Amino acid sequence: MSNFNLHGLSVSNGIAIGKAYLLSNALIEVEHFSIELKDIKKEVKRYKKVVQQVNAELSKIKKDFLKINRSEFEGLINTHLMMLKDRNFNDDVIKIIESKRCNAEWAVKIQLDKIVLRFDQIDDSYIKERKLDVIQVAERITKALLGQTNNLSSRQLDNNTILIAHDISPADALIFKHNHYHGFITEIGGTNSHTAILARSLSIPSIVSIPMARKLIKNDDVVIVDGYSGTAIINPSNKVLKEYEQKKDLWDLEQKKLNKIRHFKNQTLDHRRILLMANIEEKQDLKTVKDNKADGIGLFRTEFLFMNRDDLPDENEQFENYSAIVKELANKEIVIRTLDSGADKMTVADTKKSPNPALGLRAIRLCLSEPRLFLTQLRAILKASAFGKVKILIPMISSIDELKQTKLLIERAKQSLTKDKIKYDKNIQVGGMIEVPAVAINADFFAKELDFLSIGTNDLIQYTLAIDRTDDSVSHLYNSIHPSVLKLMAETIKAAKKYNKQVSVCGEMAGDPKLTRLLLGMGVENFSMHPASILHVKKQILSTNIQKLKNITNKILRTNEPEVIETLILKINQSRHEQNYE
Ligand code: PEP
Ligand code: MG
Repeated sequence: MSNFNLHGLSVSNGIAIGKAYLLSNALIEVEHFSIELKDIKKEVKRYKKVVQQVNAELSKIKKDFLKINRSEFEGLINTHLMMLKDRNFNDDVIKIIESKRCNAEWAVKIQLDKIVLRFDQIDDSYIKERKLDVIQVAERITKALLGQTNNLSSRQLDNNTILIAHDISPADALIFKHNHYHGFITEIGGTNSHTAILARSLSIPSIVSIPMARKLIKNDDVVIVDGYSGTAIINPSNKVLKEYEQKKDLWDLEQKKLNKIRHFKNQTLDHRRILLMANIEEKQDLKTVKDNKADGIGLFRTEFLFMNRDDLPDENEQFENYSAIVKELANKEIVIRTLDSGADKMTVADTKKSPNPALGLRAIRLCLSEPRLFLTQLRAILKASAFGKVKILIPMISSIDELKQTKLLIERAKQSLTKDKIKYDKNIQVGGMIEVPAVAINADFFAKELDFLSIGTNDLIQYTLAIDRTDDSVSHLYNSIHPSVLKLMAETIKAAKKYNKQVSVCGEMAGDPKLTRLLLGMGVENFSMHPASILHVKKQILSTNIQKLKNITNKILRTNEPEVIETLILKINQSRHEQNYE
């Protein structure tokens, strides 16, 4: 086994050691080639044999799942087994092989395209769900025809896996979240894409942007993911393996040490109480929220409820979802962000393809263009507000007009609930995400009009520096401490303070402990991050005296040279502030 290193972009710290599991996208990779007349029978036989093989594979998976009591998968596997036996599907594939004299993989693709087109013409949610089943079965057959392993389900039980994929969509990452993978490597992706954010929230070491990873790494190769440097070491020597095992033990020890500060009050050495809130995607995240003693939810990304499905969640489903979280965290503040769909977070609500998704009909723009969809969500959030401290957060506001329209729709949702005699918090606060430079430049006006502000640094950086956050070819230019970004943030914080409005930072910057002191010096007292980062940031807060940061932060904000800013940030992180929590 050859030993080599690959370099990419680190998205989540730590060391993972495991065996590679290659995720393929067989349906995209299918090639078309002609079969000679004399070989057609052989090709049909190959297809039939593969269908039998997949059938046996699925039956085994079904048995495995039942053995470990995961009966919820039984129905799904039965549907797939039934589809494999569907004579219409199989007969049509065989007819295509014979009439078009093409390879079986191509025939499956043609047959699948035909069925998907038919499904798309029927407006019925049950039928739409079946479409996904057909796609999954076709993918499974195609992989088997290509000689690729299909055993993801049995691998899901394996804790020792490093996933190697071309890309992982946020929707896929959500599924993977419930399995225990040791690490991710993807061929494309930027460090601030939503997939990277999810990887960080899983707290597992991950690297993106290693082109050809799936060509160079083979299934079951031993892989070390060094999440600090963005290096993947394939089939390491015993010496290197030992070295990394030691590093991993040190990392685990560091994590355990952090546990000591879980119960400490979040306050600086000069007694400023700082709020450490959590960013969540779904209810299942509440365990880590509680484990890390978050002060509340500073950003609930509701769009994840709209993913991996063909139908829109109705008002009741949304209400159940939101209110369950509100009730579980009784007395804690929950900031529910309205649907931020589009760009790299495609959901069932996105019906049109945009030529430039990051600048297209996404987030609040999409909701305002679909008032029924928006009103349904607003009613659900308002209903949940009767059970606790809920705030509404609007993503990607870019103009006064949008804000006015949004407020009008919130009013309409309130009136309809009053008419229906349904309880809600009549004084619910409405805040805006500051992620478009046009708003940050004019923060004074927006601070006056909104109840609170939340700086979404991920998008603010993307739009200020004109860098697609998902594009690895420009990710070296993505710079969270770019002087222009810091100036926009400083203006926003100043405006919020002027009108006595709460301002938080909820982008990835809030969870980066290297930036905690800078943000504290800039006046941020509310940080919202994925829960796995809370203790790392807290450690910084406990050892910081904000008073001592004032001069140096002002100096940073007056500087236009990125290198000087970097040096000054290093300096504030190194300086000792009287005493240490340890
Ligand atoms: C942001 O843009 O900083 C943010 C928090 O929102 P998201 O990452 O979901 O776009
Ligand atoms: Mg955003």
